[in-house]
Parts: sequence; C-alpha cells; structure tokens
Amino acid sequence: MVSEEIEVLVVGAGQAGVAMSEHLMGHGVPHLVVERHRVAERWRSERWDSLVANGPAWHDRFPGLEIADLDPDSFASKDQVADYLVAYAEKCRAPIRCGVEVTAVRKNVGRAGFRVETSDGPIDARYVVAATGAFQRPVIPALVPDDAGLVQIHSSSYRNPQQLPAGAVLVVGAGSSGVQIADELRASGRQVHLSVGPHDRPPRRYRGRDFVWWLGVLGKWEAATPPRGAEHVTIAVSGAHGGHTVDFRALAADGIELVGRAVSFADGRIRFATDLAANVANGDANYLSLLAEADAYVERNGLDLPEEAAAHVLGPDPECVTDPVLELDLAGAGITSIVWATGFAADYGWLQVDAFDENGRPEHRRGVSSEPGVYFLGLPWQSRRGSSFIWGVWHDAKYLADQIVIQRGYAAYAADAGPAATGYVAVAGIEDAARLSGTVALGTESTR
Ligand SMILES: Cc1cc2nc3c(=O)[nH]c(=O)nc-3n(C[C@H](O)[C@H](O)[C@H](O)COP(=O)(O)OP(=O)(O)OC[C@H]3O[C@@H](n4cnc5c(N)ncnc54)[C@H](O)[C@@H]3O)c2cc1C
Repeated sequence: MVSEEIEVLVVGAGQAGVAMSEHLMGHGVPHLVVERHRVAERWRSERWDSLVANGPAWHDRFPGLEIADLDPDSFASKDQVADYLVAYAEKCRAPIRCGVEVTAVRKNVGRAGFRVETSDGPIDARYVVAATGAFQRPVIPALVPDDAGLVQIHSSSYRNPQQLPAGAVLVVGAGSSGVQIADELRASGRQVHLSVGPHDRPPRRYRGRDFVWWLGVLGKWEAATPPRGAEHVTIAVSGAHGGHTVDFRALAADGIELVGRAVSFADGRIRFATDLAANVANGDANYLSLLAEADAYVERNGLDLPEEAAAHVLGPDPECVTDPVLELDLAGAGITSIVWATGFAADYGWLQVDAFDENGRPEHRRGVSSEPGVYFLGLPWQSRRGSSFIWGVWHDAKYLADQIVIQRGYAAYAADAGPAATGYVAVAGIEDAARLSGTVALGTESTR
C-alpha cells in the first residue's frame, strides 16, 4: 500500500498535541496531528459531568488565548476546556486529522524515519511525537474481584451520582478526583466512605492569592523532580463550587467516613491500612508548609497581602481519624458500589521502538526519547512539576519543537553545501507547512 509521507507526525490531539502543532507551525515544520476521536476527547467525554478545571482560568490555559466568556479567577467547566482547545487549534490552523488511530509505529530498517500504521492507512514519518498523554489507561488495583456482588467503576467512567445503584459508596483514592467525587456523592444524599492515601493538599487561596500563584512565585511549578519520597503522592485540589481548599475535617463533618488505604479483601470484607491519621497529618504538614513559605515570601518582598491567621488553625481530628475503621463488611455497610479514583497509566503499546526502559516506562530527557526521532509529550514531570498541566505542556512542546528543528538541521547538512545548510531548514519548511495546512481540512468538522 502506498504510504503518505509526512515530516513530523504528532499522535493525539489533546492539549499536548495542540501545543505541539502550534510550535511546529511557528517553526514552519511540516507536520500532521492524528487523533483517534475528537480534539480534547478526554475533557469532552472521559470525565465526570460536573468536573471543572483545578486551576483558575487565568492560569490553566495556553499563553496565546484567554478562555472565552469566563471570569479569569473562575474555573472552566470540562466542556469549556474542550471548547477552548478546539478554538486554540483553529486559531493556530493546526493540521489535525480526527478519527484516525495510530496502531503501530516502527523504525524503518536501514533508513531514517518511521513506518506508522493507522486506521486510515500507512504514513511514513521522519519524526514522531507521542502526545497521547499519561492519562490513558485507568488503573484499578486487583483488590476486589469482579464477582464480589457490587458495581465497581474507575473515576474515568464516573459521570454523576444517578449512575450508581442505590446504596452507600466506597470511593478509593483522595486525590483531586476522589475527593470531588466523594463530595458530590455525599451532597446527593449517599452514605460515603473515602479511602485516603498519601496526598498533598495546598490551600486553594491564601492571603488573597490562589495556590497556583503561590506555586509560581515560589518557583515550585519549575521544580525538575518530585521532592524525595513524594513521587507517588497525589495532589488534592478542587475548583468545584468556585474553588475551595480540600479539607478532610470538613468532609468528615459533612458525614463522609474517612478510612485508610484499601489494602486487602476477603469474604466480603475490605481492610484498610492504619495509615489514615498519618496521611491526614502529612497532608496538613504540606498545607502548613506552603502557608509558611507564602508568609516568608510576603515578608521578604514587603507585599501588601492581608494576613490570614485563621488559615493556620486546623482544629481537632475527627473521630473517624482518631479511631478509624480498619475493616468493613461491604454488604453490612450497605455499600453497593466502589469508585476507584486510583489514577491512570500510560499505554504505549502502539509505539514499538526502542524508547522504553526495562519496566516499559518512557526513557527520555525532557521528552527527547532514547530512540532518535521519537519524542514524548504530556508526561508528568517531563521537565518540571507543571508538565502535565495545560500551561506546562505548552512549554515542553516549545522545547521539543526546538529539538526537532535542530535535528532537521543536522539531517539537512550536506558537506559540500557548508554550514549554511544547517539550522535553516525551518525557514525552507514554511512553504511546506502552508501547503500542508491547506490540504488538511481544518475547522469544525475536523477538530470537533
Ligand atoms: C480528572 C482529571 C482532571 C484534570 N484536571 C486538570 C486541570 O484542571 N488542569 C490541568 O492543567 N490538567 C488537568 N488534568 C491533567 C491533564 O491536563 C489532562 O488529563 C489532559 O487531558 C492531558 O492532556 P494530554 O494532551 O497530555 O493527553 P490527553 O488529553 O489524554 O490527549 C491524548 C489524545 O490522544 C488520543 N490518542 C491516544 N492514543 C491514540 C492513538 N493510538 N492514535 C491516535 N490518537 C490517540 C486520545 O484520544 C486523546 O485525545 C486532569 C486530569 C484528570 C484525570
């Protein structure tokens, strides 16, 4: 079968793929973005109905466009985020082809580039950017068997309380998804148990500023690696109800029964670790340390931000924390469903190249993989803490586009043409990009 030839193939049109396209466009690099569903499909159809962005609209966006019709300090709904990414793709004239799934990428033998198999026929690409993100495969720990007699879903399949059978619910995982889902279920009148593991919980606002601002001025978004021991610590924040600090004491006061990490299951009974109080205490310590750093920053810089003494007062631990339930008879407690808010894994089964370590994890530096010509985008901590967030992925995409331009320069070098041949291929590529964006249908049909 005759294959289409393309210089750079970007796989996936979430925020990562859109940002990548913008930067490649900026360099005039011919490219194509293929997306198996629609632009920003995860935001569109793979999140719960009431989800809003975790960061305020002024922050959780790309630099070149504001989110339409939204107070910058408010939180975009999931559909507003999806619409925003579509609008951004259209603004950039991103050459996106929707409804095309990449099924395999293999290195060409004896020549540069990659053979890409897609649901729409083969493509030959010189460079491949895997922008399929880190949130691909829902992870549910193998704890409660399928035949345990209750409904079990992952948070990515949760939509709203009405979807679950009548009865109490166990929510496992207290990151942003778990706490928001537990809160919504409780507000709908359900009995809720929330299994709380290690977490960070920054204050939503402190001294008049959102925590995203504090993380920015304190340089924490730029941190290159997670703090030691915190590699697997989830972050509990919420933009729901106009944004509020995730407060486990308040959740308990609302009637949510907090329990420790779910560790085993037998004979209809689920057991929890004895770590609940420690997890809550560590989350408190994380919260208080950010207040302290913020106070020091205010002091050092002479900022006129109102003091907020009350934010430092946490109150006593609720009884469910001081005397936690360690074992629960699910049927006895009336629990008819479990929502596993236990995170996601990457899934690069389609990327059959030498870009992974022995554990199957992407092997890369800032997204430049160990397989020359293959790049990753959208990985957590790809270059910094901010990497998996909308604004952070934009900066990583910029870096990768620069790397691709540099490599194209080397590839174009011809000894007899001299150094002028290197580094200037991007200029020559502008025409190609214009030609390409003209041939690939843009606009509503292709990007929605
Ligand atoms: C519940 C939840 C809330 C979040 N809230 C925020 C937030 O408020 N702010 C924030 O900045 N981040 C947030 N994130 C994190 C992250 O920004 C989003 O998950 C975002 O969707 C990641 O974007 P991405 O482009 O890296 O990946 P994705 O959005 O997952 O995009 C990848 C795309 O690739 C496509 N694809 C996958 N495989 C193939 C293939 N083989 N061929 C073709 N196409 C393929 C998929 O269909 C998908 O559209 C949240 C994450 C979750 C889980």
